[in-house]
Parts: sequence; C-alpha cells; structure tokens
Amino acid sequence: MRRLALIAILVSQAEAAEWVRIATSAFEVYTDAGEETAREALSQIERIHSAFAPMRSRDLPLPARIIVFSSRSEFERTRPSSTAEAFFQSGPERDYIVAHRSVSGNYRVLRHEYVHLALSHSSSRLPLWFEEGTAEFYSTIDISGTRLRIGEPIPDHIRKLQSAGLLEAAVFAAVDRGSPWYSDRDKAGLFYAQCWALVHMMNLAPGYRGRMPVFADKLAAGDPPAQAFHEAFGKNLAAALADAAYYLRRPFRVAHVAWEPSQHEIQAQVERIGRTEAALVIGELLIYSGKPELAEEIYARVEKDGTGSPESVAGSAMIALRRGSTREAMRQFERAIALGSRQASVFFEYAMLLRDSRAEAERYRPLLEQAIAIQPSLAEAQFILGLEYSREGNEEKAVEHYRKAAEILPRQANFWHALALSYHKLGQRELALRCARRTLQAARNPAEMEMAEAAIRLTSNQQVEPERRSGVATPGSWQSSTGDSAIVGQLVRVDCEESEARLHLKTSAGDFILRATRNTRGDVRQLECGVQKPLNVSVGYDAATKEIRRIVFR
Ligand SMILES: [Zn+2]
Repeated sequence: MRRLALIAILVSQAEAAEWVRIATSAFEVYTDAGEETAREALSQIERIHSAFAPMRSRDLPLPARIIVFSSRSEFERTRPSSTAEAFFQSGPERDYIVAHRSVSGNYRVLRHEYVHLALSHSSSRLPLWFEEGTAEFYSTIDISGTRLRIGEPIPDHIRKLQSAGLLEAAVFAAVDRGSPWYSDRDKAGLFYAQCWALVHMMNLAPGYRGRMPVFADKLAAGDPPAQAFHEAFGKNLAAALADAAYYLRRPFRVAHVAWEPSQHEIQAQVERIGRTEAALVIGELLIYSGKPELAEEIYARVEKDGTGSPESVAGSAMIALRRGSTREAMRQFERAIALGSRQASVFFEYAMLLRDSRAEAERYRPLLEQAIAIQPSLAEAQFILGLEYSREGNEEKAVEHYRKAAEILPRQANFWHALALSYHKLGQRELALRCARRTLQAARNPAEMEMAEAAIRLTSNQQVEPERRSGVATPGSWQSSTGDSAIVGQLVRVDCEESEARLHLKTSAGDFILRATRNTRGDVRQLECGVQKPLNVSVGYDAATKEIRRIVFR
C-alpha cells in the first residue's frame, strides 16, 4: 500500500504542478519550480559548460536534459541512491542531470554533476579521486564581471581536512565506489575534501599546473594512473599529498576565464509544458534511473487519458522490455512505430528483439540503420552495426561504426574490445594493441578484465590466431577440473551479464542453460553476445551450480 501511495503522489504532482521548459542547442531545462529557476539553471549549466571546455576532448555528443524538481521529496523518489543530492544519469538518446530546488540554490551540485556528464563522453575511466576532485574543483565557478572565477575555496572542505588530516596515499588512491570512504556519508565528506584539495593544487599551484596536460594525456593514452602521475609531476602521490597539506595553509589562488552568455542563451524562451509532456519526461527519466515500476504508473495514467502518443507507447514498450516480457515489448514497439515514433531507441530496441529472436538480417538491419539516421549518437546501435559488418567480413566498415560508438561512450569496454579485434584482423597491430589497452582501462569487472587481457595477449602476439568474433571471451586453456557432468551439443545463444555469461546449449537430451564464469577454462574463443550460428561444443560442468568448468569447441 505504501508504495502505491507514493506512486500516486508522484503521478499527481507531475500532473498538477505547472512545468516549464527552456532550451539552448546543447541543454534543455525542465522544472516545476518556476520561470526564474528555469532561467537560472540554464545559465548555470551554460557557464560551467564554457568553463569546462578546455577539459573536454570533444563537444557533448548527446543532448543534455536538466530536471529541477520544486519538491525535495519528489526528487528523492527518482534518485538512484539514498544519499544523492543531485545525480547524473546517462540514457541512450540523452543525458540527464536531476536536482531539486533546495540544493540548486547555489547550483554547486548541478555543476558537479555536469563535470561527470562531460567526462563520461570525453575521457577514459579516471581514478575516482581525480574524477571527483575535478568535479568539486569546477563546482565552485562564479562570475565576476565578464569573467568566470574558477577555484574558489570551499571552507567546509578546508575545515574538515584541517581537523581530521589527510588520508594516506595508499588508502586514498584505493577508494572505489564500493568503499566506505565513498559511500558512508561522514567518511565520504573527508574523501571529497581531499580530492578537491589535491586537484585544486594540481590545477593552480605553480610547479603543478603546467604539468596537468601531461598527466591528462598520459591517462588518455591508457597509462596506469600511478605511473602517469609520477611521469607527469616527477613525484608520487604520497609526496603530492604532503605538498597538498602545506598548500591548504596558504592563500588560495583562483583562475579567470572570459565569458559572456551565448546568443542561444539570451534568446532562449521559457515555454509552458502540458501535463502529459511533463509526465512523459519524468516517466522516461524513471526508466533509465532504474525505477520502472514508478514509470509504469505514469505511462498507465497517460494511456488512460487516451492520448495514445508514440512516446507513451514507447515508454510502455521499454518497461515491458526491462521486465523481460519480450512479446509485449515487440507488440508495443510495433505500435509506437506505426503511430509515427521518431525515437531512435524505439527502432534500435525493436531491431535487437528481432535479432535475438533469430529473424533474418534483412528484417532488423534497416531498423538499425534508421535508428542511427535519427540519432547518429546512439552508441549501442553503432556498435551492433559494427558487429553486423564484422560478421560479413567487412572489417573496414565495422571499424567505422565501432569508432563512433567508442567516441560517444569511451568508457565501454566492449566497444574498445571489438575495435581491437577488428584492427587486429586488418593487420593494424599498433592500433589493435592501443584499443586492447583501452579495453583494460574501461573494464569494470573480472569478466571484462579477462576479456581485455585476452585481447592484449592476442594483439601483442605476432602469430595470428584463428577466426574470432568480438564479445565475451572464454578464457585460455589452463589445466583444471572438468566438473562432475558432461554434455555434447550445440551452443546456440549467449546472454552476457555483468560478471558471467549464460550459454544456451541444445543437446539430444534437451536444452541446457549453463554459466560461463571466471572458473571456466578451455579453448580461447571470442563469442558475440546473443544468438549464435550453432557451434559444436563439449562441456564439462558442475551439475549443482550449472557452472561450466571446461569448454571445447569441436
Ligand atoms: Zn561526484
């Protein structure tokens, strides 16, 4: 009951409040907190975008939507974690920054989230301390006359560091998203303060600031962070932290950047938004921020109003897809297309469902092409088209598409991996190895790391290995147990998940689904995720856990 009541509040607030929208070419702001908030949020985001320009390797490839809720409780229902005061969320067709009016007062959190958004498109995965420190450093930009001031001190951070002291270099560098120094509110305060102080020094202190571009270049080239740091600054992190402790006691410098509002911003007009559009904007956000049950309620209400718009039908399709109701999702995607949908992800997801159901390529390829015709920055669609060309043996075309995908989302390990393999097949050894290194840098879990290491071994090896396709790597052949059961059959499909893959096998004894994990050993073979051209295999596995111990392709 409680959840239903919450949903009802969210739906009714989305419908009752007056929503407005204001947009420039790169950003759009939606808010129910009034015209002034809309203008101010847009202006703030344009300022940070301009101040951060030298740090971006490219323009933002996707439009960014900023949503500012007037009510804190409404914001809290959309946020992905219980401590976030604002958040950045990426979606296939656009990025989101979401905040509420009470924190947007000084707009520091909004600017902090913008930095995460911009970095997600322009850099490899960065050490956590460097990414958060950069976001904190740029979060304080302020205007003086026609110039932006960058690097204002944050008194709260300075106080914390002066009373608690700095974390040791080894502890500090090892903080990741699972660490209490990141997720525990009290501890995180100190970690953020230290990230900020160090990055402030690296950007503005004499002896450091001139070397910052070298550090950034080395990170971009895939050098390990500790090595990049040492080579750029001529000292290790521990020595730099000792400098930072001294730096904190000195007067703070700030930097100035010339700025004036763009014509786009000056001419931008606030427009009122109907309740259906507002509901759809929030519904779409909820799908991508992992709250499909809340989104479902919103779409159900919109549908009940009888609008039957392609957007609301597409929303229902996305929810069905996330629930695993493939038939329902296909039916709704077809409906959305018939209603005239111009959403690239509708064409893409529908194409993927057809492809997974082993439809002929002639049926889903045009849909993929249409998806990128509507939205060339739909990275997943570029990637899948790459796989299609690679399957046909057209590696040049595959590389074109993989490169676009990796440019849009440079933190996706599987994009770099596919690119590495295609370059390898084309005999471009140096590029192949570079992309294999980027795969490792982007890897987020043991399976991706193993895939990256296999690619590095392959691309740094002179001998050319047999035909391989991109996707999940089944690891190399070490001696190991072969499990307590064995089957011989055909591998027909691979479902790729976070840290393992599920292999669907057809045998004379029936169908099996077994898990390929880190413990799986056997032939080295790169498998594309999804439906396979049937491959003959013999498999040793543990009956209790369904874990594959050994796989041999025959
Ligand atoms: Zn952050």
